Amino acid sequence: LVSREKKPTDTVISVDDVSVGNGESQFVIGPCSVESQVQVDTVAQSVKEQGVNILRGGAFKPRTSPYDFQGLGEEGLKILRNSGDKYGLKVVSEITNPKDIEVGSQYLDIIQIGARNMQNFDLLKEAGKVNKPILLKRGLAATINEFINAAEYIVSQGNSDLILCERGIRTYETATRNTLDITAVPVLKQETHLPVMVDVTHSTGRRDLLLPAAKAALAVGADGVMAEVHPDPAVALSDSQQQMDIPTFKYFMEQLRQPNLTAHNI
Ligand code: PEP
Ligand code: MN
Repeated sequence: LVSREKKPTDTVISVDDVSVGNGESQFVIGPCSVESQVQVDTVAQSVKEQGVNILRGGAFKPRTSPYDFQGLGEEGLKILRNSGDKYGLKVVSEITNPKDIEVGSQYLDIIQIGARNMQNFDLLKEAGKVNKPILLKRGLAATINEFINAAEYIVSQGNSDLILCERGIRTYETATRNTLDITAVPVLKQETHLPVMVDVTHSTGRRDLLLPAAKAALAVGADGVMAEVHPDPAVALSDSQQQMDIPTFKYFMEQLRQPNLTAHNI
């Protein structure tokens, strides 16, 4: 169902007046984790000022270590929703448990399925039954074919509002946290009709590489870019090495707004 052969035209995902896949670049920006209302509001205000439409923030955090911050859960979703409503932004957050898809759909405009859950088939099936767009991230070590099959799990349950997100894969390279598979973008766009985004934060794990990676993503035809922003990354409860502070984020957006960078002009 997701293949380009089945449907030659690009799928556009719309949440009210915000569309992903219609030729404009969309940005999904916000902290790694929702920590407090003040923290999310601070980022949301800057996100709005920069003309970005979609706010992110993790509430259910799939952490490598059980001793790391696990997220605020439903309270985090409420905080994110409040900020979204206050600043007129659409909100996206990850759901990790099939039983939370329903609660996620109460608070969120877009439900994220994270890399670690790309092949959680029960979760994919639940996501396929709700009437909400899903942002599906590529697994840590998933081939493009496995990624497309995960997408198929969701769409085959009836929900065809799906955005794919390349977020880097595990390779032998240690200079970056993951290896951004930049050609996954044109491959996914050729093989499927779905919008494709690139998460520059988790793919690189390096603040100094966010801007070049985002430029590359837009240049190869990505429909959008995800990046993490925190008011004070040094004290962030997760991913403190790779989140941008607010002045850096402003610079990031200014650079990406250069007209010659959009896919259409290349
Ligand atoms: C995230 O976006 O918050 C996240 C945990 O990313 P990933 O699933 O790609 O690791
Ligand atoms: Mn993160």
